[in-house]
Amino acid sequence: MAENTCGSNPMFCFQCEQTARGTGCTTVGVCGKSSSQAGLLDQLTGELVALARIEDGQATESTYKVILEGLFTTITNVNFSEEAVKAQIQKTRDEIGKIRPECEGMVESCPDHAPLDMCTLWNENEDIRSLKSLLLLGIRGMAAYAYHAYVLGMTDDTVNRFLIKALVTLGETLPAEELLARVMECGQVNLACMALLDKANTTTYGTPVPTKVSTYIEPGPFIVITGHDLKDLELLLQQTEGKGVDVYTHGEMLPAHAYPKLKAYSHLKGNFGTAWQSQQREFASVPGAFLFTTNCLMPVKDSYSDRVFTTEVVAYPGLVHIDDNKDFTPVIEKALALGGYTTTQEKTGINGGHILTTGFGWGTVLSVADKVVDAVKTGKISHFFLVGGCDGARPGRNYYTEFVKQTPTDSIILTLACGKYRFNDLDLGDIGGLPRIMDMGQCNDAYSAIQVALVLAKAFECGVNDLPLTLVLSWYEQKAVVILLTLLSLGIKNIYLGPTLPAFVSPFVLNYLVENFGLTPTSTPEADLKKILG
Ligand code: SF4
Repeated sequence: MAENTCGSNPMFCFQCEQTARGTGCTTVGVCGKSSSQAGLLDQLTGELVALARIEDGQATESTYKVILEGLFTTITNVNFSEEAVKAQIQKTRDEIGKIRPECEGMVESCPDHAPLDMCTLWNENEDIRSLKSLLLLGIRGMAAYAYHAYVLGMTDDTVNRFLIKALVTLGETLPAEELLARVMECGQVNLACMALLDKANTTTYGTPVPTKVSTYIEPGPFIVITGHDLKDLELLLQQTEGKGVDVYTHGEMLPAHAYPKLKAYSHLKGNFGTAWQSQQREFASVPGAFLFTTNCLMPVKDSYSDRVFTTEVVAYPGLVHIDDNKDFTPVIEKALALGGYTTTQEKTGINGGHILTTGFGWGTVLSVADKVVDAVKTGKISHFFLVGGCDGARPGRNYYTEFVKQTPTDSIILTLACGKYRFNDLDLGDIGGLPRIMDMGQCNDAYSAIQVALVLAKAFECGVNDLPLTLVLSWYEQKAVVILLTLLSLGIKNIYLGPTLPAFVSPFVLNYLVENFGLTPTSTPEADLKKILG
């Protein structure tokens, strides 16, 4: 067991929205992470800082891969396996040894290049800790996006170099102003990272097209695939073809239905379940197999642990992990053995709807830009809301359902990420043929929303902040953090953020965000809509 003796508590972690008491998990993670696992993840981060310090311009593709994997591993609900994290720590040390052979086998004491003790960061002055945490959590989120682009064969030097720069920064003594500038730089670089992933997804699988996805589950064997990794879905579809096994998406995989090269597979049937935080209830007693490709894995209950599989950086003790060879045979065999349902199962979204429409990426929305601009000019559309971000388990997230329900009937709701499961089965009708709810995709498709906002601003010859557009975001984990930083770095103001403010934002940093960007905590749908619409 790894020791994490940071102060008098067995662990410290405050990186996600469900953190204990809204201040930090100090004995065990609310997410199910043990104190020893938290210690190992801190250790991994410290080793990544050592690798970044040591590379001195000598990083290779393998160095960047280790950094992407390592940062991704530390994201909430990704990796619960001590064995897997220890292996990742060893990989990082091996990479240090490759770059600096004189450090091989003595990384702990290698002059000037010892791992960063994360306790030094957690015990910093609260404003410095807040800014360094924003930077660390930002690059954790960015690394996940860069990783997905990497598996599709695309990388970006600006992104890779920034990850190294930011890791080094975590161990540096810098004034708050300089750290603030680096936090904003993180947001800017993440725009390039999201553009990279958008390019990787659309060049590989085509431009998403509006697609209606059923929530029904058909009879027969099936596999549910969840997470963000489209490559894993493609490989699974190839390996299940002709085997009598259907494939359903779950969570952040839903937008995959809209990509032409993926929707071409007739056994990609529909979407299973609602948002990630309901998995322990929704997976119980289901006669199908589940494959996790990225985060959003909750502690696995005994009642369904025999049918859950992981791949990529996701891991959980006792579960079968599909390695880089991507042979999904164990998943397929499990699905065949379970046999699926004997009759069609009527499942619904949380509001009772049976159809989820997705595929309104920027390529699609901008193809009807003239229609949209005209609808605004003629008063048919009064306002745009971007209501998106993560879903989560805490009470209070029905704010987003109620907010959407109460928006004026002449407004458009753009949405993305899993927060949409709060309302994506609602039928709010359309405006002149444009559906009132347009799902732009996964959280990284915030890039789409930004592109649409920029084009609208150009069409109306104004700034984004002058558009009749309000962003109402929900956050849970680190990818949402980096998207928020991107929006702020673009100068986008008056964003509503909920359901609670991050524990890692100190009063000084919050004050800066409120004064300079008008960042506003969500209150009630009624009060917020009144404030927005006047
Ligand atoms: Fe707590 Fe969230 Fe950290 Fe888990 S990831 S230990 S819930 S703060």
